[in-house]
Amino acid sequence: MAQCFKCNSRIDDKTLRNINCKGCKRVICTKCSGLSATSMRVVALQTPKFSYLCDECEDQLRHIPESCRLVTDLQQQVQELKTNQINIVNLDTVTNEIQERRNRIRNLIVFGIPESKANSNEDKK
Ligand SMILES: [Zn+2]
Ligand SMILES: [Zn+2]
Repeated sequence: MAQCFKCNSRIDDKTLRNINCKGCKRVICTKCSGLSATSMRVVALQTPKFSYLCDECEDQLRHIPESCRLVTDLQQQVQELKTNQINIVNLDTVTNEIQERRNRIRNLIVFGIPESKANSNEDKK
């Protein structure tokens, strides 16, 4: 004899078909599952194939992608911080500045056009 985890009513396997949540494996009664009589008949016919998710599990499932994205975002930020730190230690910054100064001088003397703010380094993220 199973017991519904929501309403705690006992489920008689002979009269009511209990449904197991695919996620938490808890048993839920027909009424609490929100399934229609028609659905229940289908469930009865295809019990092995049927999968039910309770509201709680469905809710958790919905939140998983969000938390995953959050973690990915954080990892990306950490990665960016690391990259930035490396860049500071790296000679790149110094070389860039030298290059920039050279360009500026060249621009002023040879082309006479203002220095472009477009940084090729920004694209390498
Ligand atoms: Zn119930
Ligand atoms: Zn569940």
